[in-house]
Amino acid sequence: FTVTAVTENSAYSGTAVYNFDISYKITPRFFLSAETVDQGSALVVYGENLLEDMPVSVSVAFSYSPSVIRRGTKMYSIIPFNYKREAGEAAVTVTYGEGETVQLNYTVAAIEFPSDYEEQEITVSDETAAATINNSAAYTEYNKLVAELAKISDEEVYWTGRFIQPCDGTVTSDYAYTRYLNGKAGSTHAGVDLACDEGTPVCASNSGRVIYSGELQMSGNTVIIEHGNGLQTKYLHMSARNVETGEMVVQGQQIGAVGMTGLATGPHLHFEVDVSGACISPWPLLDGTSPIYKIQDFQ
Ligand SMILES: [Zn+2]
Repeated sequence: FTVTAVTENSAYSGTAVYNFDISYKITPRFFLSAETVDQGSALVVYGENLLEDMPVSVSVAFSYSPSVIRRGTKMYSIIPFNYKREAGEAAVTVTYGEGETVQLNYTVAAIEFPSDYEEQEITVSDETAAATINNSAAYTEYNKLVAELAKISDEEVYWTGRFIQPCDGTVTSDYAYTRYLNGKAGSTHAGVDLACDEGTPVCASNSGRVIYSGELQMSGNTVIIEHGNGLQTKYLHMSARNVETGEMVVQGQQIGAVGMTGLATGPHLHFEVDVSGACISPWPLLDGTSPIYKIQDFQ
């Protein structure tokens, strides 16, 4: 900037101009949504005061590659903690600029999931078993599709406010339950099962883009919605589907009806929430305690 000095009423009068070059550095600031996270919930890493072309990446100590969403001079990254994440102290590492790093410490709080004390015995018919649990092709079909869809992470945030329960119903199997299928230990439950009458409307839990609508051997009539930033909801075992792949849906819109297609013993909806392939508990998104909501204030 420039300083102009004007001298008056003296033997010398005149003007002197001094020029200065000023350089200043704005330091990026990174912080977490909370210092503690429950198993099954999520943390959000935030950054601000970033230069727009400054590279930023986020890494964690477990097998997960967080994606970084940029918004001008800000960034954020959602880190899901599924039921498998070990309780205790850990850190997120943010690398920015020319390799500078910041460590953000947090604690994973242990949650007593029903799997600790409750197990479920599920018996399916021989016909269903042959098509699903005794059919490796059915697992491969489902797992391959889901792994491919988990790579989708739309830049835009389509969701607003709380997520809603897609249909009324009794919870017959909760998130992280351990189930036994026809006497064999099955996988830990990735979602919530809501039992209700066949044909009950199933609604989109929040607004988003339908990234899959189709029928699979394992999950029957299936709809998967991308809500933005890799946050996805899954609706399985339906009797009907009302939307097509590629369609945009709004919260509460009917996307299908409850059924028992695929691996099911009775009419129910399997409702699941995933962040870039990691299943998290739907409940914090339904009751408003998930830190994922605050992302909306940071846009
Ligand atoms: Zn289920």
